[in-house]
Amino acid sequence: MAKDFEEKIDKCLELESCLLDVARCEHVGDKTKLMLILHRFGSRKVLCEEIDYQRREVENTGRKLNWTLRNAKDILETMSIRCGTCGGTGKITKSKYLRERDSIQTVIVSDKCPACDGDGSVEIPSEISTYVTLFVEAVAQLAALSQTFMQFSGDAMNMIA
Ligand SMILES: [Zn+2]
Repeated sequence: MAKDFEEKIDKCLELESCLLDVARCEHVGDKTKLMLILHRFGSRKVLCEEIDYQRREVENTGRKLNWTLRNAKDILETMSIRCGTCGGTGKITKSKYLRERDSIQTVIVSDKCPACDGDGSVEIPSEISTYVTLFVEAVAQLAALSQTFMQFSGDAMNMIA
């Protein structure tokens, strides 16, 4: 996720610096260079649309980071994770086939999940909490970085777009 995030920010920065160049050329009246840059995109409008798209991508990744952060914080708080065997329900449902004279009946039976003993969650060893803490810190930093980037690039784009 971090790599994906980095790529999206890089792409966004590249496009925004193109738009900055465009604004600079417009300002000084360098039509040749302006055409050269815009040739790549077709028009200033297309470039702005691509920036909008890329900014939304960064925003979405920021949302995913915040979601991951909340989950990791929950894990730290409860020191448990959702049971993977029963998916958190605490029950395992199975179909059983009952043969009765000339027909077969399907019955759904649910048993207590053996992995979590019906709790729906399993405790994590305390040693792991150190790693989860480090993970939470790293993700929190990335999420903050994404917010700063969006703010900064939003302000910059408002000025020149
Ligand atoms: Zn379970």
